[in-house]
Amino acid sequence: MVVQPDATIPILQSDVTDIESDLRSQLLITQVDKVFSWARRSSLWPAMFGLACCAIEMIATANARYDLARFGAEVFRASPRQADMMIVAGTVTWKMAPAVRRIYLQMAEPKWVISMGSCSNIGGPFAHGYSTLPGVNNVIPVDVYVPGCPPRPESLLAGLMLLQDVIEDERAAGGRRRPEPTGDFSTMLPEGDPIRRELESLFPPYLAQDGQPRDSVTGALPNDENFFSAQPGSSSSGLREVR
Ligand code: SF4
Repeated sequence: MVVQPDATIPILQSDVTDIESDLRSQLLITQVDKVFSWARRSSLWPAMFGLACCAIEMIATANARYDLARFGAEVFRASPRQADMMIVAGTVTWKMAPAVRRIYLQMAEPKWVISMGSCSNIGGPFAHGYSTLPGVNNVIPVDVYVPGCPPRPESLLAGLMLLQDVIEDERAAGGRRRPEPTGDFSTMLPEGDPIRRELESLFPPYLAQDGQPRDSVTGALPNDENFFSAQPGSSSSGLREVR
């Protein structure tokens, strides 16, 4: 038997008995994290929400003509807890930004983000307006940017394939390499702005406007049923332990 460290190879190189002949045709050996990243990149489940016209193209991508199911990514989930990919499709207004951040926090780890379209990337035709974020990367980390206004379904599929490469690359690189947002909105929103206060409460140290601690995973307040961090049996990361 010959084992090569960095390749998926037949486990047996030569037959000695009939059993080994059977094994040779049915078994492969590989690395565990390679299998994990293959499974993750081949079954991305998007969170089901859209913000503006780009969402129509996202919906078209899931239909039969473009067939998102070829990539295992057609299972749009109505609950962020069952999703591991966020496609930010449309204009992100300041009013919507806390909701986008909260949905992202509620998604399961590991999770990835595609920013779809000029609005989400840099504000699009509304850039420099009073109402629109100059890029969704100010509130959530972004793995892949898809340009266009709107991007066609083919562009989103290209972005999805790039994201699959990113996930594969994370295995080789030993972790995530995307920049995290800082949570500093002082250059974008005035002091005392309610949306700024709401957004800042969704970043570490996760304190609400009245100083109450927020859940670091869900953004919930202590009297909310989704507040896990301080409950018995919860881990220090804020994730409830499954027993
Ligand atoms: S990028 Fe263009 S198509 Fe997409 S949400 Fe903005 S205005 Fe609409």
